[in-house]
Amino acid sequence: MEDEIYISLGGNVGEREKFLCSAIKKIADKMNVLAASSLYETEPWGLTGQPNFLNAVLRVSFGGKPEEILKIFQEIEDELGRERKVVWGKRTIDIDILLFGNLIISTPALTIPHRYLLMRDFFMVPLVEIAPDVEHPLFDGKISDFEKKLPPQLRTIINIKEDETWRSITTSLLKDQ
Ligand code: AMP
Repeated sequence: MEDEIYISLGGNVGEREKFLCSAIKKIADKMNVLAASSLYETEPWGLTGQPNFLNAVLRVSFGGKPEEILKIFQEIEDELGRERKVVWGKRTIDIDILLFGNLIISTPALTIPHRYLLMRDFFMVPLVEIAPDVEHPLFDGKISDFEKKLPPQLRTIINIKEDETWRSITTSLLKDQ
């Protein structure tokens, strides 16, 4: 049985749409992409004074272990030219694992559910868009309910960014399911 995994894509360098489109294509080469959210334009979280981000969430299925999928994502980040210099700093593409089925993991390399899942609207809003009923394995309740309780000062989403290429890639990926 393959786990349903939710991942977040984000980037704020150069042609952000292109990096997100390249990332989803590379991800689709390695696993099934089952759902994709819209692209969200967001203000930087944690470290201000840098360009706005584009963020999205995908549902994928994968037969391997969390460490294996993390390695795939780190290779894709490296291929797309991400430099690991500043925590929360500028990046062409960042791929985070939000949920991995109902698994709970806390090791130096991996925290699942993602440690900031319930603090970031740019994780929760796109996640709820594609999975309205998904629950948090550690806390009692739906992500959509946690999202509603997020205070305004933690909110970063500016708008949904329409992008023809993202729309056509996601439509054709989902049609293939
Ligand atoms: P970041 O710079 O935010 O992409 O963080 C990268 C580091 O976070 C990697 O070295 C991962 O081992 C670690 N990490 C811990 N939990 C997660 C997670 N849920 N998804 C992705 N990376 C994670």
